[in-house]
Amino acid sequence: MQSKKNGDISAMNINDTFRHKGLRRKLIEELRSKGITNNEVLEAINRVPRHVFMDSGFINFAYKDQAFPIGAGQTISQPYTVAFQTQLLDIKKMDKVLEVGTGSGYQCAVLIELGAIVYTVERQRELFLKSQPILSKLGYKPKFFFGDGYEGIPAYAPFDKIIVTAGGPEIPQKLLNQLKIQGRLVMPVGSSTSQKMTLIEKVSDEENQKTEHGSFIFVPFLKGRIY
Ligand code: SAH
Repeated sequence: MQSKKNGDISAMNINDTFRHKGLRRKLIEELRSKGITNNEVLEAINRVPRHVFMDSGFINFAYKDQAFPIGAGQTISQPYTVAFQTQLLDIKKMDKVLEVGTGSGYQCAVLIELGAIVYTVERQRELFLKSQPILSKLGYKPKFFFGDGYEGIPAYAPFDKIIVTAGGPEIPQKLLNQLKIQGRLVMPVGSSTSQKMTLIEKVSDEENQKTEHGSFIFVPFLKGRIY
């Protein structure tokens, strides 16, 4: 049974109107003009009704290229950021992907649209519970975990790709260990006020290749979990 706090999924409005579709087309053109070049990523974003992931007070802003509050002091990432991280991950169909920070579930939906098999972990129980009925009503079926993403999900490792959607001072070794050789990990790394989008390409068990791809500001990657 769903508790009230998690939303009544039978009442959830998943209507995707012509207006929404039109706004989404404009957003895609905006993302293209800001430098997103991967058409598969843009098309995936074009298929996901972002407004369904937003709290009711922000629905009218769903197709603005901005982050918005989703509860528990967290935000749904800006579409440009979602597109940028997803493009860096270079998702192939059937890639096994670990997402750290389920949040609203929006990034997870974009990954699934690209054909990824997604394992997503969230440390805030409120968001862990809230994102599930939304994704499921839209037909997305990731594997959900409530826990501390610093630990990864060892039972399902290794992963082809790992995406961390919160910013922290360094990449946890446990996540690197759960990445396949030839795999890619993308995480914003830095202080609480600015992070560099960091891509790790795992060359061998001993060697990782690291590159940085511009500055971003994310909500913090925090240890432990919150009931
Ligand atoms: N991918 C999300 C972004 C949400 S913001 C979306 O598309 O909406 C980042 C999320 O990371 C927040 O929900 C926050 O609670 C979560 N987070 C932060 N530290 C974490 C950790 N150690 N383990 C799991 N999730 C974490």
